Amino acid sequence: MKNDPEHTHNYYAATAHAAPARAALNHNIEVDVAIIGGGFSGIASAISLAERGFSVAIAEAKQIGWGASGRNGGQVLGGWSGEGELIKQLGPRAEEFLWKTRYLGNDIVEARIQKYGIDCDYARGAATVAFNPRQMKGLEAEFEESESHGLKGILSLADKTEIRRHVGSDLYYGGLIDRRGAHCHPLNLCLGEAAAAETIGVQIFENTTVTSIEHTERPVVHTENGHIRARWVILAGNAYHTLEARKLGGYMLPAKTYVLATEPLREDLANSIMPQNLAVCDANWVLDYFRFTADRRFLFGGRCNYANNDIADIEGSLAPRMREIFPQLANVKTDYAWGGVIGIPLNRVPLVGHVSENVLYVQGYSGHGVNCSHIIGEMFADAIEGDCADLDLFEDAKHFKVPMADIIGSPMLALGMSYFRLRDKLGI
Ligand SMILES: Cc1cc2nc3c(=O)[nH]c(=O)nc-3n(C[C@H](O)[C@H](O)[C@H](O)COP(=O)(O)OP(=O)(O)OC[C@H]3O[C@@H](n4cnc5c(N)ncnc54)[C@H](O)[C@@H]3O)c2cc1C
Repeated sequence: MKNDPEHTHNYYAATAHAAPARAALNHNIEVDVAIIGGGFSGIASAISLAERGFSVAIAEAKQIGWGASGRNGGQVLGGWSGEGELIKQLGPRAEEFLWKTRYLGNDIVEARIQKYGIDCDYARGAATVAFNPRQMKGLEAEFEESESHGLKGILSLADKTEIRRHVGSDLYYGGLIDRRGAHCHPLNLCLGEAAAAETIGVQIFENTTVTSIEHTERPVVHTENGHIRARWVILAGNAYHTLEARKLGGYMLPAKTYVLATEPLREDLANSIMPQNLAVCDANWVLDYFRFTADRRFLFGGRCNYANNDIADIEGSLAPRMREIFPQLANVKTDYAWGGVIGIPLNRVPLVGHVSENVLYVQGYSGHGVNCSHIIGEMFADAIEGDCADLDLFEDAKHFKVPMADIIGSPMLALGMSYFRLRDKLGI
């Protein structure tokens, strides 16, 4: 993958564990469940299903982890995007689900790392940082709610002096430390999970683009040189697919987001930034997120381009912001800088449900998919076994469709994000 033009400057691709080149599908097969997309959503679903005895095949257009799963910030944080909206729409039922699943994704990831011996630099510890009293109030409310829902001893509040001990910047007003949040090398997690899936019988085909889905009693996934007939299909192409446009098009707007990784830092310099090796994001609408890699590079992401255009100079766009927060990085070199696409539903609630009776789909985690994709895998397996309670919750959520989204979607998202950036600047 590291020679693919999309990945030549990606730290993860450069440091990925060796993975087998998997053959493309060039014949016809039949399985219980056909999965489209070899990112976290596809692979996690495959493991959940194969562990329950289903036969599974995955068709991935490029390579395992090629999409957002092999490019992200590596932050494995609890919760979902769009939580407030889900509760506003569906009330206590949503609230109960959200607290029940708060760290479920982390639990699943940790259990799989343990069970299948996956080496992906997984480290616990995270924080959300606030720039102003208003943001701090939000973190205080989150802390109190978490305590009242029985999650004791996981979160702790940090005032300005305390947060400075965790995150070495003068810009923060306070923060919330999260002992269950974590970070990892996401591409190695995804590759490790794919290898694990194969050990329990999952067939994986790379360089296999799905061209269409035939919706019949036993749906058929057509690829360029073969097909997969199945009892169920899971569409997990997220922001990188264009299938089923009539049903799914216009609900999710794609945004490009970017990350840089510095050269490895001296230990004392790294300690001046984050002695506890946390995964940090801020409480802004348009947020910055950062952490250290296992070889002590500072990995910094954020300030993304919501116009869905490519930024020519990623480093030039991200590094000034990184140095504004951490002036001690003034003379540090950037070794890698890359980008990827996230899918953002207008209300930020992930889009999950049925395309047809036996074709399921998930997309639009709004940049918060590492943990959630693992929960979705279990939800899909439950649904295929006949328990649709959690899936129904997402299907009952109302979403907005942007008419002619391919033409006006990106400018609209850019306009929306300019508004949110302004709110961040004004601290409202
Ligand atoms: C730069 C960046 C930073 C991020 N940071 C974080 C973070 O720190 N924490 C977090 O939780 N989330 C983060 N995210 C979001 C997270 O990475 C995603 O939500 C998650 O990886 C989605 O996984 P997925 O499997 O649904 O999609 P993807 O990983 O994008 O996988 C979809 C796959 O489907 C394949 N595909 C598409 N169409 C077809 C087709 N027709 N046939 C066959 N295959 C097809 C693609 O090739 C791709 O490999 C970030 C995303 C980006 C881009």
